[in-house]
Amino acid sequence: MAVVDGATLRIVDSSEAPTPQSPDPDAIPHAVVELARRLRGLDRVRRAGIASIGPIDSRRGVIELAPNVAGRPRSIPVAEFLKGELGFEEIYMANDCNAAAYAEYLARSGKERQDLLYVTISTGIGGGAVVDGRPVLGRRGNAAEIGHSVVDPTGYMRCGCGGLGHWEAYCSGRNVPRYARRLAEDGEVPTGSRLHLLALRENAGPREIFELYRSNDPSSRPFFGRLATLMAAGLSTAINLFAPEVLVMGGAVYLNNENFFRAEVFPRLQDFLMLEGPRIEGPVYGERSPLIGGALLAANGVGEARVEL
Ligand SMILES: [Zn+2]
Repeated sequence: MAVVDGATLRIVDSSEAPTPQSPDPDAIPHAVVELARRLRGLDRVRRAGIASIGPIDSRRGVIELAPNVAGRPRSIPVAEFLKGELGFEEIYMANDCNAAAYAEYLARSGKERQDLLYVTISTGIGGGAVVDGRPVLGRRGNAAEIGHSVVDPTGYMRCGCGGLGHWEAYCSGRNVPRYARRLAEDGEVPTGSRLHLLALRENAGPREIFELYRSNDPSSRPFFGRLATLMAAGLSTAINLFAPEVLVMGGAVYLNNENFFRAEVFPRLQDFLMLEGPRIEGPVYGERSPLIGGALLAANGVGEARVEL
């Protein structure tokens, strides 16, 4: 959370805390309000912008349900809380990746770039797009959820959202180890290989799995080939949909494994793309793109993101 000067975009003050892992639907809004109260300059804030994991209802200012939060509270009325407790005049809300795309687009505007796609590969896979200079937010703020595009219609893996064969179910930080484990259990990984042993271990994380790629482990090459093809399938679907000039890639899984993407994933895009691929860049605002994007939606009064309170 940050207080941002709307004219200069300078961050006046910022604070952060982990997302409360509680089934209580009030836990998150309470934590957000507490976090806000610590900020210098809060008394001068008129407009607030919220960048949240989806799905959301941006018209009502509600986080609908959060697949990556334990306990799955059904609906979190975060805007109503903020207005009630802190008295902001206007509140704006967007999916975190849609907000990030908007921030990354504005950071590059003036360079005649009208179309940008933002993709983050972290715990989940998220995306956001700016087309013809406008953020693509969609009804209630849920457009461009590209992590839930289907890359495998056989539905071998089930996604956290409940859907079958979604990109995120194979390629996100949470799911790469689950996918490896499933393949190992089904005899698709050579028995006794390093990947086999690692995948069947209870607490294997994406970092350890990708370590096998970095160390050029021969027995795990087919697995990384499979993973790269699924990754390129998801990425090319998003690129074909939005036809961006610039693709901004972020998220811990991407940033910690850029070699894998450059050597294995990006070359595979050519097989799937209709048009020439976009220029691929890193996020100007790093991990703060969603935060800055939320502030920019509020500062610029983007009507499609305004909460009706
Ligand atoms: Zn899904």
